[in-house]
Amino acid sequence: MEINSRKRSQIKYLAEFLALEHSETITPLNKIADLEELQVFYDNYENAFDGILIFDKNFYIHLNTNLGNFPDKERGRFTLAHELGHYFIDSHRIALKAGLIKPHPSWHNKNKHQIIEREADFFASCILMPEKRFRKDCEQFRKFDYQVIENLAKQYLVSITACAIRFADIGTHPIMIVYMENNHIVWKWQSKDFRFWKLADGKKTVPKDSLAGKYFRTGSGHKRTEELWGVDWFDGISDDNINFKVFEQVIPYQNKVLSIVWY
Ligand SMILES: [Zn+2]
Repeated sequence: MEINSRKRSQIKYLAEFLALEHSETITPLNKIADLEELQVFYDNYENAFDGILIFDKNFYIHLNTNLGNFPDKERGRFTLAHELGHYFIDSHRIALKAGLIKPHPSWHNKNKHQIIEREADFFASCILMPEKRFRKDCEQFRKFDYQVIENLAKQYLVSITACAIRFADIGTHPIMIVYMENNHIVWKWQSKDFRFWKLADGKKTVPKDSLAGKYFRTGSGHKRTEELWGVDWFDGISDDNINFKVFEQVIPYQNKVLSIVWY
């Protein structure tokens, strides 16, 4: 389910307003919570959740350090930004306060099908990388390569994945991001003006001649960028464009691969 466009622009306006009130590129999330007198607790909650927003006379946020959710770490910052989303988005806060929705533990990279989770993730993306500031920083780079994403992720203290998704939405060069596990495509995200939609081996299967495909097949490979044929990744390339080349940055980790593709 997609977030409808009116809700999307409300969330964007709210999150970016909160971020741009502060001059820091690394949005001071804890300060934003403090200004609301919203208490944030960092503690070890074993594997129970990444973060949770609870209402008990007041609102409280709990973040799980056992899963790496520290204030100065990319994961902790994304989780806090997500929980702030549940707090600041009116419909979430009101429903939680009235007991219409139960406090739900948030998990990194899970529950993505639930609309309130998508809304809170979008809020997180906007408060961590407000469009005006992020666009300006994108424009510093004359040419696109993977270093651009890596530099921006460092600058904003966000994960490569979060940064690449934001770059696909509002950046200065069309890219596609594919997250895969065990040779299956878990999700894919791409810029609106990215020119290919259809993957070489269907919706679910990792294209076998891509760097990701080779990693899953051979079980070895390291993080790198390589130039490949367009047809290694995409279906529907016409004969006239058969020599079209693309770049793939592959980031493998155990049974998981994140690939970023551009041309
Ligand atoms: Zn959530």
